Amino acid sequence: MSGIYDLMRTVLTESLLAAPMFGWGVGYFQPDPADGTVASMSYVAYTFFGGWQRRRRDGTPRRSGDDNYDDDGTLREDSIFFPVGKLLTRTDNALTKTIIHELAHFVGPGGPKNGNRIDDYTNAHKNNF
Ligand SMILES: [Zn+2]
Repeated sequence: MSGIYDLMRTVLTESLLAAPMFGWGVGYFQPDPADGTVASMSYVAYTFFGGWQRRRRDGTPRRSGDDNYDDDGTLREDSIFFPVGKLLTRTDNALTKTIIHELAHFVGPGGPKNGNRIDDYTNAHKNNF
C-alpha cells in the first residue's frame, strides 16, 4: 500500500508540474477523446492497468491496441482519460475519489493479464461489496 501511495504521489507531482505550463493534453491527465458522446456518459474516467510504467520493447508507451483494450487501439496507456465536461460538474470530493481510484489502476503492477493488477473487483453500489 505504501509503495502504491508513493507512486500515486509521484504521478500527481509530475502532473502538477506540467499542468500549469501546458494544460490539458500534456502529461498523464488527458481529455477523453470520446467526451460528449453517448458512450462517455457511462464513466467518469478511465485508464490502463499499470499504464504508467509499461512500455513497448522500443521503450515507447504502450497503445491500447497492444493489450486488446475495447477502443480503437490508439490510446496511449500512459494516460488517465477524463470526459472534461462531466468532470467539471462533480464535487471536489467526487473528483478526488475519481483521481485516486484511477491512479491505483494506473500505477499498480502489471498489465490487464497480471494477477496482481489493481482491478475493480466490486464497488459500493454492488451487493457483494
Ligand atoms: Zn476502476
